[in-house]
Amino acid sequence: SILVAGSSNTDMVIMADHFPSPGETILGGRFLMNPGGKGANQAVAAARLGGNVAFLSKIGKDVFGEETMAHLKTEGIDVSGVAVDDQQPSGVAQIIVDKNAENCIVVAPGANMTLSPKDADTHIQLLENAEVLLMQLEIPIETIVYLAEKAHEWRKKTILNPAPAQKLPDELYACLYAITPNETETAFLTGIKVTDEITAGQAADFFHKKGVKTVIITLGAAGAYVSSVDFKGILSAPAVSALDTTAAGDTFNGALAAALSNGKDLESAVAFANKAAARAVTKMGAQSSIPTLEELSKPV
Ligand code: ADP
Repeated sequence: SILVAGSSNTDMVIMADHFPSPGETILGGRFLMNPGGKGANQAVAAARLGGNVAFLSKIGKDVFGEETMAHLKTEGIDVSGVAVDDQQPSGVAQIIVDKNAENCIVVAPGANMTLSPKDADTHIQLLENAEVLLMQLEIPIETIVYLAEKAHEWRKKTILNPAPAQKLPDELYACLYAITPNETETAFLTGIKVTDEITAGQAADFFHKKGVKTVIITLGAAGAYVSSVDFKGILSAPAVSALDTTAAGDTFNGALAAALSNGKDLESAVAFANKAAARAVTKMGAQSSIPTLEELSKPV
């Protein structure tokens, strides 16, 4: 099974003609409220794509947290590790989308930033039960390091999706089975701009030198560059007509974790992740675009 430790948010989207200027109030159009947060998105992806998933997260004592909890349950996710913080509100993101489909986003992480090593320790049984630990960077880094170190000690596979990018401590790299940056995150973390297989290999070597076993750089429509002891090269994604790339990376990571926890080898797991993520970009939205195994088995 898989333990996802990460964020959950409620995305509140307002469609408008244009963005308001400072001090201005405008009347917008449609309002949408959607479950989000990289942690929750990846947990949902892993669950829909065949994984047995438990989620470690923190919500607030409010209606958004209740909705989040109920929603995760309907996805078949074990929410015994989702704790309620009595100080901070649930994470929310306020999003304005203008008529050109550009967006402006402010995230209030709230309770997500209170997920402490102590909280992780309270639910450490969930890690004991898992083979794969999947994390992103929307919770405190101390908690990420704490879990990665425990997972390393217990010979679990930790996958870190380093998004949103921030500098990472060396002791974290040393505990990782895999890191899955996109091209922007790779440039931020390594200083290397990936333009081809050579530069991808150089960026991968940066992570390998820090102790990361497997490097998977996602390359958008081109698929992913994979570097491990057994395999180095690009695994391409199926060609699709892209509609909305929101949650492509989240689908990729959830699918990867699901495949690895089901015993697939690295190459087949990445091929599966490419297939699932490519399908997600053919649909609008974040979690609404994440396919189930059944959907994936049908032609586009
Ligand atoms: P992020 O969404 O995090 O920026 P990428 O853009 O690298 O990450 O996309 C993640 C994965 O989604 C890719 O590795 C690929 O499998 C899939 N993907 C993204 N865009 C496309 C596309 N236009 N066509 C097919 N697959 C895509």
